[in-house]
Amino acid sequence: MSNAKYIFVTGGVTSSLGKGIIAASLANLLQARGFSVTIQKFDPYINIDPGTLNPYEHGECYVTEDGAETDLDLGHYERFLNVPTSQENNVTTGRIYFNVIQKERQGAFLGKTVQVVPHITDEIKRNFYQLGDNGNFDIIITEIGGCVGDIESLPFIEAVRQVVWEKGHNNALVIHLTLIPYLKSAGELKTKPTQHSVKELSETGIQPDILVCRTEHPLPMELRKKIALFCNVQINSVIEAMDAETIYDVPLLMKKEKLDERVMTKLKLIPKQEIDLGPWKTFLGKLKNPSSEINIGLVGKYVELKDAYKSIAESFIHAGAMNETKVNLSWIKAESLADGDISALEGMHGILVAPGFGERGFEGKINAIRFAREKKIPFFGICLGMQCAVVEFARNVLGLKDATSTEMDANTPDPVISMLEAQKKITQLGGSMRLGAYPCNLKKGTKAYNVYGKSAISERHRHRYEFNNDYLSKYESAGMIASGFNPETGLVEVMELKDHPFFIGVQFHPELKSTVLNPHPLFVNFVAAAIEFSKN
Ligand code: GLN
Repeated sequence: MSNAKYIFVTGGVTSSLGKGIIAASLANLLQARGFSVTIQKFDPYINIDPGTLNPYEHGECYVTEDGAETDLDLGHYERFLNVPTSQENNVTTGRIYFNVIQKERQGAFLGKTVQVVPHITDEIKRNFYQLGDNGNFDIIITEIGGCVGDIESLPFIEAVRQVVWEKGHNNALVIHLTLIPYLKSAGELKTKPTQHSVKELSETGIQPDILVCRTEHPLPMELRKKIALFCNVQINSVIEAMDAETIYDVPLLMKKEKLDERVMTKLKLIPKQEIDLGPWKTFLGKLKNPSSEINIGLVGKYVELKDAYKSIAESFIHAGAMNETKVNLSWIKAESLADGDISALEGMHGILVAPGFGERGFEGKINAIRFAREKKIPFFGICLGMQCAVVEFARNVLGLKDATSTEMDANTPDPVISMLEAQKKITQLGGSMRLGAYPCNLKKGTKAYNVYGKSAISERHRHRYEFNNDYLSKYESAGMIASGFNPETGLVEVMELKDHPFFIGVQFHPELKSTVLNPHPLFVNFVAAAIEFSKN
């Protein structure tokens, strides 16, 4: 049996209160006291994973080192903790049922009737405990997606109750995140929704140990007392969570409210070291005191939905702080550039073409890239963005007018981006994707090599199509070179222009590996190039 301590984070009143950020901030504080901490997210929906979800549904799909397609909250966990997550950190109702049904088909239940309690809840608990059982972590924080009271999350909540019952209050605790709305007309903060939400949670047999109250105004002592009394928690376990300037301020706000101390007291945890938030504060200092400002145009398909490019936006925050520069991101709808009017790109000091799937916005991206290439504006293409750069070069430099990716036109005479023969046979959704971390070797003397400062790198992938090596010599003799290759397969991972201050396209997703304490070198150097450009 492991000695890991378990913390559950549930939500009430409404969704989108920021459970992920609270969980990540608490983890951050506990990590700063010397504990090894991981965070996992349990999502109540039936999809096996978010890989098949449209970004409009759930924002970005975050890919882990081991190739799991997961919820975007895992991105926050990694950015806050600087520790990789894996498939085990994200479990859905779909996966739980899938596992139980497979076991049933294999006869594992010996003729018994398979039921939600205990079979589904046992499988949920097995997954809750999985990361604790391997002995690598002192503390496992589990965020339960959705809101208490949702029909879908009931089995998860019941499993949480059982864990607290099994492990005892010294080893498992529940933090409930709620909203204290401010009624303008009455000029008052209202506690009733929180009271109801805690009552609803109590009906499932769970008494929350700590309440984290999201609020737009400070919680006066009187109100804290009222919440404590009505919700049956200690007064110092009513934690105020005011709206913060940035998500990266939340750990410090939670420290001020002593959330970590409450948790350590309740779980009888002795800190392993004096709390060290030095590097985090240095980052915040740089973030808040920029000495210059640049404009980056992010050209994508889902720009009305900022969550679709969450990791890219956060990577720019890390890279901006590193360069002590404020990065203004302009979200530019790729389709709006399709007719050749690229006025939206005027005034940009750098252009990033985003990852994506499907034809919508493809021609607009090509136009944006042509503009960046010809005007020598720093350009950074990620995944589909790199593929678009390859197509643009084929059409406008190599003279292959109808060149494209076979994703856009299966019968193109010049498939400069195409699918490998071996992949074509795989039909199950998600099956043909190259997912997760792959090694890449960078060629010495190239821009990419200089950016990383080394040859052997590893980056995460999520795509089906690849650069077609049959065309490589044509590209290289015209000035676009392949500077990174997969050492095992020879697949091209990085393309760059020789005669340009910064023009790099990468087949992988560097944004998935940028963290507060480890900003990604490609973003850091792209921002630096944009600062240089802004001086012209
Ligand atoms: N649609 C492209 C492919 O599957 C790019 C995917 C991406 O940008 N993530 O190869």
